[in-house]
Amino acid sequence: MFGFYGRILTVDLGSRTYSIDAPEQGLLESLLGGKGLGTALLASRNPAGADPLGPDNRLIFATGPFCGGPIWGGSRYGVFTKSPLTGFYAESYSGGKVPEAIDQTGFDAIVIEGASERPVALSIHPEGCAFHEADHMWGLETYDAERAARSALGVGKPGFGAPGAVVIGPAGERLVRYAIIANDFWRCAGRAGVGAVMGSKRLKAVVFQGDRKRELADPKGARAYAAAFAKAGKENKGVKAYKAYGTTMMVALMNTAGAFPAKYWSQGTCDHWPRISGETFHKEHEVTPHACLKCFMACGRMAKLVKGRHQGLVLEGPEYETIYAFGGLCMIEEMDEIVWLNDLCDRLGMDTISAGNLCALAIEACRRGKLNLGLDYGDFEGVGRLIHEIAERRGVGELMAEGIVPTAEEWGLSDLAIHVKGMEPPGYDPRVLKGMGLAYGTSPRGACHLRTTFYKPELAGFIPPDAIEGKAEMLTDYEDRLTIFDTLVLCRFYRDMYTWEELEKAVGLVTGLDASKGELRRKAARVLNLTREFNLREGLTIKDDRLPGRLHREALPDGRTLTEAEMERLLGDYYRLRGWRPDGTLP
Ligand code: SF4
Repeated sequence: MFGFYGRILTVDLGSRTYSIDAPEQGLLESLLGGKGLGTALLASRNPAGADPLGPDNRLIFATGPFCGGPIWGGSRYGVFTKSPLTGFYAESYSGGKVPEAIDQTGFDAIVIEGASERPVALSIHPEGCAFHEADHMWGLETYDAERAARSALGVGKPGFGAPGAVVIGPAGERLVRYAIIANDFWRCAGRAGVGAVMGSKRLKAVVFQGDRKRELADPKGARAYAAAFAKAGKENKGVKAYKAYGTTMMVALMNTAGAFPAKYWSQGTCDHWPRISGETFHKEHEVTPHACLKCFMACGRMAKLVKGRHQGLVLEGPEYETIYAFGGLCMIEEMDEIVWLNDLCDRLGMDTISAGNLCALAIEACRRGKLNLGLDYGDFEGVGRLIHEIAERRGVGELMAEGIVPTAEEWGLSDLAIHVKGMEPPGYDPRVLKGMGLAYGTSPRGACHLRTTFYKPELAGFIPPDAIEGKAEMLTDYEDRLTIFDTLVLCRFYRDMYTWEELEKAVGLVTGLDASKGELRRKAARVLNLTREFNLREGLTIKDDRLPGRLHREALPDGRTLTEAEMERLLGDYYRLRGWRPDGTLP
């Protein structure tokens, strides 16, 4: 079959064995790769009710049919598992260079099951995999772990590409429920605790290397298509903006819109935002665009701090979400300190969105006399100390490592805590961008900006942010198209360029399958239903799709709010359009 390898590697860490199988007949044709294949494998191989941190929970890596080929934006991989943060479906994606190394091993998906008794590392190649003792790597921060893994475990066989590694840091080892899987030093599968699942298997690192390449249905046509696409893309306004400022440009946009969550979700803007904006950051430090492989957009920022107490610090970042989490929610007014906290989270292997939300909740707990840490808004040193304590599960960090729901319960602040399904939202306030409320509610992994990126049509004026009528219709169209993106494991930031018409062309050239819009939407619906079925099996009910009551009760200072009735209407419309029952179950 074109565009796919037709091979799945299954690795059992308990018995230290592996096997190579073909996917079930018709599976790839029906669901494509990436999220489609990953979800099908997770649903069929995980027993219902599996403990997310137990040996039965599968950790699945998958690339898509665009990876390694000429199509732009396809150098990405996805991770699929059951989340230790939410107890529901988890998906998380990352780019960089490692996706092409994963792809060159010649598997559409790699399923890791069981758990090792001792720390272990894997090297995966086209013939299978090798198991390596990793006691000496246990405890290493992510950057050191990646260096060690790549240099020690690469195969160096003639014809093989460069090795790529994914690793966990101390947070993943200690099962912090929002630990990340890191690659290429600063890229990561960051959300829903996929790093804790890897840690529960005592799997410190996986190195990928090989020489395989996907066979395309029309290689010449795909190359010509990609060349024309790049030519048009380089003139695209959105591409130019991402290249100039990356996601840091969102700080100004969101504050202007009044939808920048600040002071733990009590404000929609903050006075100090010009100091933490992308424009200021680019002026004050050495910042250059940095790209994943096969990308002309280069939204990444390679940054070197050239002054201040962190002078010399180098990292790729920070992204908008990290700036919002520390600069907005925790009210840290110095960009250099946000960069320092970003680096700390990266090294320790922890999601900055979850960490920022939890630290801001801890500040509120201190202000309300529930916690005696002397922490207040803007205290970057205190936030840095908390991040260390979480990664080491020390002091209050032991509780905070468990995630927002148990932490808020213990502090008596459940009414204050902002999350959906136990996952904290990124930086788009749904009281202003009401479609984001629906997106947070219905995303299978919890409050997530990536399933639909619905902030884009709302901010761009394609639909008024406060509209309710017609919102679910537009959102389902975005969700379908971006679900296809995830089956191809295609970067979100190409969303304005890969319209349905462009997807039809690209998917057809690569896979030779029927890639009409109608068929792609049917595939998206199958994947979405499969994901929903998984979550329902794991105990999801309609209440898990609702937003925290505080977002309905408490208006922003400018008076804007999203009422419970509006949210119910949005959910009702969404379920109807999806063909689900009014209670969100499948017929
Ligand atoms: S736009 Fe950014 S995240 Fe997407 S492929 Fe390019 S560099 Fe990677």
